[in-house]
Amino acid sequence: MLKKIDQWLNGVIMYRLVLWGLSAIAVFAIAWGFLGLIAYDGSSLLLSALIAVAVCQFSNLALARICKAQINAESSMITGLILFLIMGPVMSYQDAGLLAVTALVAMLSKYLLAYSHKHIFNPVAVAAVIMATVSGYAAWWWIATWNLLPIVLVVSFLIVRKTRREALFVATVVAGLGTSLLYALTHGYDLVEALEIYTLAGPMLFFAAVMVTEPLCLPGRRNAQLVYGVLVGVLANWKFNIGLLYSSPELALVIANLWSFVIGYKHKLYLILEEKRLVAANTYEFVFAMNQKLRWLAGQYLEITLPHSQVDQRGVRRSFTIASSDQEGKVKLGVKFPNEPSSFKKKLLALAIGERVTAGKPEGDFILPRDKTVPILCLAGGIGVTPFRAMISELIARGERRDLILLYANRSSADVAYRELFREAVEKLGIKVYYLLTHPCEGEECDGQMIDRETIARLVPQLADSIAYISGPSAMVTSLKKMLKEMGMSGFRIKTDYFSGF
Ligand SMILES: Cc1cc2nc3c(=O)[nH]c(=O)nc-3n(C[C@H](O)[C@H](O)[C@H](O)COP(=O)(O)OP(=O)(O)OC[C@H]3O[C@@H](n4cnc5c(N)ncnc54)[C@H](O)[C@@H]3O)c2cc1C
Repeated sequence: MLKKIDQWLNGVIMYRLVLWGLSAIAVFAIAWGFLGLIAYDGSSLLLSALIAVAVCQFSNLALARICKAQINAESSMITGLILFLIMGPVMSYQDAGLLAVTALVAMLSKYLLAYSHKHIFNPVAVAAVIMATVSGYAAWWWIATWNLLPIVLVVSFLIVRKTRREALFVATVVAGLGTSLLYALTHGYDLVEALEIYTLAGPMLFFAAVMVTEPLCLPGRRNAQLVYGVLVGVLANWKFNIGLLYSSPELALVIANLWSFVIGYKHKLYLILEEKRLVAANTYEFVFAMNQKLRWLAGQYLEITLPHSQVDQRGVRRSFTIASSDQEGKVKLGVKFPNEPSSFKKKLLALAIGERVTAGKPEGDFILPRDKTVPILCLAGGIGVTPFRAMISELIARGERRDLILLYANRSSADVAYRELFREAVEKLGIKVYYLLTHPCEGEECDGQMIDRETIARLVPQLADSIAYISGPSAMVTSLKKMLKEMGMSGFRIKTDYFSGF
């Protein structure tokens, strides 16, 4: 059962899962409202949902245009849905206005309370705290109700499992429970009642699974994440006030966000260039040491910031997959250089040994499946091979045998990178690597010309049971995904990494 769930989760991106989960809770809540199964009227819940989501969507569109930022429509819908689920249902014009202003404040916070283009505070939490302090319009947490508990439990489980934040979730919930019981004990409340409120009728499950796990405000390192969870759990469940600020889950999260920002700032990740070498035609490998210990999952990427003079319109940031596994102890990037590179890439190539660049924390879901028995098909186009290099290096380091086939497409053999590592994996782990060259020269080792139906049918015997990973230029990824679906593969079993920018 768990295996099936994991397979399904492997095929869904994180933001979409959260969006679907919250939408499911919202639909149940509104339906329960119309059926009289919860204390709130269905029509006022429906109106609240529409206001929260619409204001978040439209204000985000407008703000992104003003700030020339990229839009993630899913994330503003998620913000709107969480606001709907925690702020009071709309029962008057005044409620409607206050909810709309809260949604606007949440979106503004993403742009105004931000550093280095990343928001510092969870937008929902900070908007709820500001509104409660300024106008007395506070979160109700009406989502914490018995009749919605089953759907909240299912969605919370799926989100925590997908984001792999089990430890953070447990730290938050256990610290919260301990604090809640201690508070009851020291203030003469009934312990059983406190336990019941905490576990069944309180907002902690939803809060810990959906809001505390929000990735952008989390500290990067695992231990710091656990401290973050404990801090939130304790502050959310011990009653206190600081002037006009009264303890609440949202205030606890805002305080923890601030702490995460401060330590994140102090522990800013720098990559220090140690080595630069040509690994294929026009493709360089950059090997970096780090200024701090860093953990990542093979297949994740990070964002590099490289300030330089005469910046072209493409700017100073780029995402690159970490081509190494973290057992290698170094961040390796494989970067393709065109004849006329951007100003960013010119600067990258000109970096001297010992020079440093700033990096964000490793992110992404394009990682090996948890289930070690499932066959894996990796389809790489050109430099899109970098996540597979990281995964295969990790398997070699762990001595872990998996049923893995890599189809690696290039123009000619001069464009093939990392051949030695792949040969080692073939010998040690029995994985299969096929080189497909569209312009093979005479005598070249070549397993075919391109990744097409015929090649896949010939080289991949277990396609239907496999999980497929596709990585490369966006157009290639889109067309291969379509092709695999036409060959009968479920979309849930296809994972994609779009190297946008080429
Ligand atoms: C999750 C993720 C992971 C990625 N991993 C990798 C990776 O491991 N390795 C990797 O190489 N890339 C990776 N990419 C892509 C990378 O982030 C860049 O977008 C890509 O390398 C293009 O770089 P560039 O914009 O500097 O353009 P370039 O590669 O320098 O140029 C691309 C094309 O645009 C043209 N061009 C360049 N500058 C301009 C300009 N100012 N105006 C008009 N045209 C111009 C060039 O002539 C060329 O034809 C990844 C992207 C994502 C989203």
